[in-house]
Amino acid sequence: MTSNSKPYSLVIHGGAGTLLPSQFTPALKEEYSQALRDALLAGEKILKSGGTSLDAVCEAIRIMEESPLFNAGKGAVFTHEGHHELDASLMNGSDQKAGAVCAVRKVRNPILLCKEIMDSDFVMMSGAGAEEFATERHIELVENAFFSTPFRKEQLKEAREAGRVQLDHTGEEKFGTVGAVAMDKMGNLAAGTSTGGMTNKRYGRVGDSPLIGCGTWADKRCAVSARGWGEFFIRNSVAYRVAARVEFLNESLVAAGDQVIMKEIPEMGGDGGLIAIDSDGNIAMPFNTPGMYRGYVKENEKLVIGIFNEEES
Ligand code: ASP
Repeated sequence: MTSNSKPYSLVIHGGAGTLLPSQFTPALKEEYSQALRDALLAGEKILKSGGTSLDAVCEAIRIMEESPLFNAGKGAVFTHEGHHELDASLMNGSDQKAGAVCAVRKVRNPILLCKEIMDSDFVMMSGAGAEEFATERHIELVENAFFSTPFRKEQLKEAREAGRVQLDHTGEEKFGTVGAVAMDKMGNLAAGTSTGGMTNKRYGRVGDSPLIGCGTWADKRCAVSARGWGEFFIRNSVAYRVAARVEFLNESLVAAGDQVIMKEIPEMGGDGGLIAIDSDGNIAMPFNTPGMYRGYVKENEKLVIGIFNEEES
């Protein structure tokens, strides 16, 4: 670390809903822990070598999109019609540039498309148009069935039978959206989020994850990635709301995150969690569900993983 560089940090989440502790076998716990570790280490490699928080966030999310364990990319939940529609967003704190994509069916790694969109004249693209742009930018496209897993198919069957649109963490069906926030050695922040949304969703439903200010936010002071019941997170502008409390009320990141996730969202009837980091390297990971897959790594510190209330190095 040079004298004017900052100690880097990377925080990730793989969803705020988890199986209850009683349903979690040691083998399953290890599988999730390993997937989180892989994502953290891949992002850390970039930060350690002086790379940007934006690239570290993208890479950590890309790794989780590739894992069938999370509701993002491969392993995404099914829509009512039996396919997958993916949403994602990415924001860079130093200049507030952003890229977002919603309802794409063929983009293997939506977060990589967000990065391309961020560098275009637009902020958000949807569906077929976004896929046309992905082709122009040589972003990999796959058949929709690439994202399918037997577990998610079973979830759709149950949701259809029960006639409900289901968050991936509703009732006993959990797992989740992925996200990352980071600060690089230059002190710049970034945030990103990627999801398959809700099981049995229809009518082109889009949640908070691709919406800048709702699922994702980054500015010079803090970066936030949320996950949870999208409709409530949109109605409360969750990600920006945390940043606004820090900026305008001078609250600590932890106080701001707690106010929104532990008080405001439950009062509205929603649930979920978020991860956040500020420019002093403080982090917050509040959640109001039984657990949240999460982890962080800070320069010269041991990597930490958490699923329920406890955290382990
Ligand atoms: N926030 C996502 C959505 O509502 C779902 C989730 O985070 O699990 O689409």
